[in-house]
Amino acid sequence: MRPILLPYSVSSPVVTPLSPLLVYASDSPDTLDAQYNGDLNGYTYAREGHPNADVLAGHLDRLEAAEGGLVTGSGMAAVSAVLMGLMQSGDHVLGGDQLYGRSLRLMQQDLPRLGVSTSFADASSVAAMQAALRPETKLILIELVSNPTLRVADLHGMVALAKDRGILLAVDNTFTTPRAVQPLRAGADIVIQSVTKLLAGHSDVTLGYVAAKAPDLGQKMRDFAVTAGLTPSPFDCWMAERGLLTFDLRFERAQQNAQALAAILSRFGGVKQVLYPLRADHPDHRLASALLGQNGGNMVSFELTGGRAAANAFVQAADGLAFAPTLGDVGTTLSHPATSSHRALTPEARLALGISEGFFRVSVGLEPFAALEAVFGTAIAAAATATA
Ligand SMILES: *Cc1c(COP(=O)(O)O)cnc(C)c1O
Repeated sequence: MRPILLPYSVSSPVVTPLSPLLVYASDSPDTLDAQYNGDLNGYTYAREGHPNADVLAGHLDRLEAAEGGLVTGSGMAAVSAVLMGLMQSGDHVLGGDQLYGRSLRLMQQDLPRLGVSTSFADASSVAAMQAALRPETKLILIELVSNPTLRVADLHGMVALAKDRGILLAVDNTFTTPRAVQPLRAGADIVIQSVTKLLAGHSDVTLGYVAAKAPDLGQKMRDFAVTAGLTPSPFDCWMAERGLLTFDLRFERAQQNAQALAAILSRFGGVKQVLYPLRADHPDHRLASALLGQNGGNMVSFELTGGRAAANAFVQAADGLAFAPTLGDVGTTLSHPATSSHRALTPEARLALGISEGFFRVSVGLEPFAALEAVFGTAIAAAATATA
């Protein structure tokens, strides 16, 4: 095959070119051999790696204070690379009891099928996690701020516990982002991101990222990802790189809006409860301040007093806010856990978590704050009228 040479340019590109190539031609069997041995750098086949993934991984490594991180085709692909790439039959995995729904499902439905046992405990309590450890526990998986009740994990306690017992600690840092916490620096062994959310930030990319402190663990996950085909699309990597350029600015603005919204929501009649990690009345307020400092993040949850009727009226009157099950977009989005992420639970099980029919999770975006204040005021008033 004839090598394709791009037209020569003495000047260089200022942004990363998009390179959707599947396959690369090598000089000779000797060269290909050396590439596969790792003696020469060179791409071969896109499932095994491609330039846009590697450029993006470099940016994410810098943010997470990691080395050799892996970009995957989704956040769940990154979770799978950890749980399926590192665990083996007979191992036990302990998870926080409020993990992302599909992470829970992977642990409850799929790992046991493969001989890996799992259980869950409250990640805001080291004592509860410690009590749930078994002799065969190999890994603890936690999220630092839970969905949708925004409970805060005791990261430092968990790091000490895992070190003491020789267990790996994996942290899904999606809600918190490396702006608030760098789990590897704090002593975790593995960090996971759904890049889909705040890092890419525009609801047009599905990607994940995982990095391990120990190079051999990183290599195991990379090998599993290549075999299982957890490969990211070059286009998504390229889009995410562009999104990352404004991550700091977007995070700053969204977080300011979220703090301000959390402060005013309880003033509206018809709002029973407001959850934000840095509010003084949050159940994990002290843990949150110690872990997050001033970075409370962009997620706010609240509860309307009316039931489903109030919830319907609120969404319909919330002009311009997307009612959509994601987070981290430039625009504010609303999620109603009782009919989406937590619909599989019984009403009693939902209530045990504090999720009523009036419960909403808000991913706060970058709108001018006055506009947010106005639309929330209108929509909450509409909810109150609907149930009056
Ligand atoms: C969305 C999400 C995931 C899964 O990410 P995808 O990119 O949708 O696969 C994992 N963990 C958390 C905390 C998430 O919010």
